[in-house]
Amino acid sequence: MGLDLLIRQGDVVDVGQRSILPGADVGIRAGRIAEIGSDVDPHRADHVIEAAGKLVTPGLIDLHTHAFPGGGYYGLDPATVAWRSGVTTWVDAGSAGAYTLGALRELMEARPVRYRALLNISAIGLAGESYESRVLENCAVEPAIACAESNMDILVGIKARIDANTVGPNGIEPLRRARQVSDATGLPLMVHIGAGPPTLADIQPLLRSGDVLTHCATAVADGVLDASGAASELVHDLYERGVVFDVGHGVGGFSFPVMEAMLTAGLPPHTISSDLHAVSVRRVAFDLPTVLTKFLALGMDVVDVIAAATSTPATWLSSTAGDLSSPGTLDVGAAADIAIFDRQPGPVVVSDAYGQTRTAPERLVNTHTILGGLELTAPSDEHRESAIPTLDDLATPGTYPAPNTPTRQTT
Ligand SMILES: [Zn+2]
Repeated sequence: MGLDLLIRQGDVVDVGQRSILPGADVGIRAGRIAEIGSDVDPHRADHVIEAAGKLVTPGLIDLHTHAFPGGGYYGLDPATVAWRSGVTTWVDAGSAGAYTLGALRELMEARPVRYRALLNISAIGLAGESYESRVLENCAVEPAIACAESNMDILVGIKARIDANTVGPNGIEPLRRARQVSDATGLPLMVHIGAGPPTLADIQPLLRSGDVLTHCATAVADGVLDASGAASELVHDLYERGVVFDVGHGVGGFSFPVMEAMLTAGLPPHTISSDLHAVSVRRVAFDLPTVLTKFLALGMDVVDVIAAATSTPATWLSSTAGDLSSPGTLDVGAAADIAIFDRQPGPVVVSDAYGQTRTAPERLVNTHTILGGLELTAPSDEHRESAIPTLDDLATPGTYPAPNTPTRQTT
């Protein structure tokens, strides 16, 4: 039988077996993986991508983004980034609340990516940079439950940002309310930690197995590390309890020394996400492949890094969004969501959110992004080359002015 597309002789990542099939061919028909083998006749395919020396992975799943353009301070259009980053599934992490989810929902239907959202416990969502849960009337439980119940087809969880700026004098109350919405709807929580109060000790009793702790390696949350600089008892407890540790890099959510302490304690992140938004796309995070490259700098195996941005988030999503058709694998029969990467040899100096640098042995640079068997292309006149950060950009937390991104102030 003919093939619509053949990806030839790439090094194919098998996330299920935690291995790489070198020089393998991936055949695609009718939007699905039709075969994986060697020596597939290229004449059988309408289109051929030569991938020798490249890494072929499942389409990346970014569990923490702010993909609500026009919906507030952080809103980023996924169509401007997906095609050059390999990210085929975007999870918006609470940009919208009960008052604004309708607008995000309309937008989701018009974008060429797979898309899900977490509902912010604050009904105004991330209209501004912060402060959304300082007014408790915004965090009313009943409207959030009603909104969630009528949008279960697009929602995968409830988001609560718990830091001093966001909650002000309300402390842990917004998280208590998010817990109530979670319990009433069956949607798990994703809790953002940052500079407290509240501290991680305040947050810990409200988290359950399957909930997500994002910005897990932030340097500003009180309680992640103990006085000796090691991963705290709280962190061990949450990890053992089945809470999902998510990176959520962003502009302030990732520290090399904190992540190193967690790796030393045997607590690698379950999911690696970018927290990509209108600010972090221009500095520090840039895109998910750049964030993944930082974990290569920490010595993680490339297959484990890919799994943390494909099969592991897919498993979490499937627990709430059973119909999400991207399984995060390249198994025959799966939806043909595929990313192809150049492995540019290092050394590559990369920075965390606080200016600390490490050196990666190689850099992952996306060359093709395929969604349901179709390659994504640049919107309008955006150029792939100019949208990828330079080596100097990677090594500093300074500003990188990518084209066609909003020029917002970060102060
Ligand atoms: Zn975020």
